[in-house]
Amino acid sequence: MIPGSFAYHRPTSVNEAVGLLADLGDEARPLAGGHSLIPMMKLRLATPEHLVDLAGIPHLKGIRSDGGDVVIGPMTTQHEIVGSDLLAEKIPLLREVSLLIADPQVRYVGTLGGNVANGDPGNDMPAVMMCLGASYQVVGRSGERSIAARDFYRGAYVTALNPGEILASVRIPVPAAGHGFAYEKLKRKVGDYATAAAAVVLTMSGGTVATCSIGLTNVAATPLWAEEAARIVTGSALDTAIVQRAVAAAEAITSPASDGRGPAHYRTKMAGVMLARALASAKARAR
Ligand SMILES: Cc1cc2nc3c(=O)[nH]c(=O)nc-3n(C[C@H](O)[C@H](O)[C@H](O)COP(=O)(O)OP(=O)(O)OC[C@H]3O[C@@H](n4cnc5c(N)ncnc54)[C@H](O)[C@@H]3O)c2cc1C
Repeated sequence: MIPGSFAYHRPTSVNEAVGLLADLGDEARPLAGGHSLIPMMKLRLATPEHLVDLAGIPHLKGIRSDGGDVVIGPMTTQHEIVGSDLLAEKIPLLREVSLLIADPQVRYVGTLGGNVANGDPGNDMPAVMMCLGASYQVVGRSGERSIAARDFYRGAYVTALNPGEILASVRIPVPAAGHGFAYEKLKRKVGDYATAAAAVVLTMSGGTVATCSIGLTNVAATPLWAEEAARIVTGSALDTAIVQRAVAAAEAITSPASDGRGPAHYRTKMAGVMLARALASAKARAR
């Protein structure tokens, strides 16, 4: 339960952080809230020799509007997302999701950036970012690039981030006014990761679904964007037969592990149940 020894670095700018990571090489890791990384270090599942703490970089914090997007700094905490008036107005799904992450102690310190950059399929925000069509701006010594959340996750704890790069902001297109949204998460107890969870954002027009996007959490090695399930419900009135077809399409792309949260087949079925509930809630909320 005691991590190995490491050197601690506290840069005050993105350039300094990126320079440190490049100079220190493979044995250096960015540190955000530490609520995923420090437990891994205590279990010796991660043994970085250098931690580059991003907490001293003011540029990495904050939530702002930018045209039709909302841009969130990676060091913004889950607690700050819960309390943001801008997000409550523009992307209320993020508040709903944040409130389902862990407990207040974790949310006070855990950050959006750490949650999405971690690559843990159990983290809730990645599938939500895929559902929302978000993109990640990343910075390394060789410059900046933007990566779609839908292209970011390559395997459990494997992402498109190159060594030495940090996530510098998360850009989310604001869903259409009147959109319906929901995040349904099955967990064994308060503070647990998802057995299975589903995010839905949709718009309705004249009783039919005009647009729909669906993300699934913790039912594969990566978060999933359920494109075919969303295609099935688009143009429908979300009647029972359509929901059943969408659920079957979503279940078909899952490949969960059998673990303490249940056998694989159960978790796949729970993903379907969460999706059916999320579709119904999103439809009921759409204006
Ligand atoms: C008891 C408990 C319960 C939890 N339950 C949930 C839950 O239900 N759902 C959920 O989603 N999460 C849960 N978490 C995880 C929590 O939300 C973490 O805070 C979060 O996943 C990671 O954020 P962090 O700021 O703590 O990141 P850290 O732990 O500091 O970092 C996580 C990883 O991301 C990397 N990283 C961080 N920031 C950047 C960046 N800007 N650029 C590049 N790489 C970066 C780090 O190097 C590290 O590899 C739980 C944690 C605990 C302790």
